[in-house]
Amino acid sequence: MSSEPTVRRAVLKLSGEVLGSKSGPLDEGALIFFAKEIAAARDARVELAVVPGGGNVARGTALPHLPPYAGHTIGMLSTLINIVGLREALAREGVPTLVQSALPCPGVADMIDVWAGREALAAGKVLLLAGGTGSPFVTTDTAAVIRALALEAQRVVKGSKVDGVYDADPMKNSDARPIPQLSHQDYLHRELKVMDAAAVAIAADHALPLVVFEAARPGALVEALLDRTGSRIG
Ligand code: UDP
Repeated sequence: MSSEPTVRRAVLKLSGEVLGSKSGPLDEGALIFFAKEIAAARDARVELAVVPGGGNVARGTALPHLPPYAGHTIGMLSTLINIVGLREALAREGVPTLVQSALPCPGVADMIDVWAGREALAAGKVLLLAGGTGSPFVTTDTAAVIRALALEAQRVVKGSKVDGVYDADPMKNSDARPIPQLSHQDYLHRELKVMDAAAVAIAADHALPLVVFEAARPGALVEALLDRTGSRIG
């Protein structure tokens, strides 16, 4: 039997909260850890694009006294902060990257260019995609799904604080039970929250599988890419 991964190209959505710690929004240890995880995925010959969240710095919905457009723009800009940290951590691991953003930030990131992104992936670079979708009122989960479809990736793996999809929030409910696999429609019908419903709805339309896994466990990223950990939606 071949040990070749069945996933050739994937998008990693990295929740912002796994990049920070109690001492601040960006934790250098976390950046180094995720750079090593991403390097291992590349060693396993999976082409990887990374969409960071921004929740470790700011989320639009957590800024209710600002006009929503301003809050969401701050949220999107937060992902640019994360991408600079990830880029440097990956460079230290010897992993070449191409950095693109949906929000213009000359000198920090190129603009989103799907064709250049595909070329970079094919050339062995990790593609770092900041700025979410570039539009307010959605989250980086939606950005990850849209980028995966544009890049013709076979799945989105979402690295989060929880180790999969549960029937209730496991952080708040000790009786919450894990759901190892469910359809997109079942996920939407049950109004589960670990992944944004808008993102799951788009993934459903395109039969794009999503995997939710615990990002901070060493080796978990490669396992998620191989369907060996986490919960699979679709
Ligand atoms: N955001 C947005 N449009 C996007 C992506 C993100 O307006 O396409 C804003 C939104 O306010 C969101 C915040 O940026 O809450 C941070 O992103 P997200 O909540 O996805 O981060 P995560 O929770 O994954 O760290």
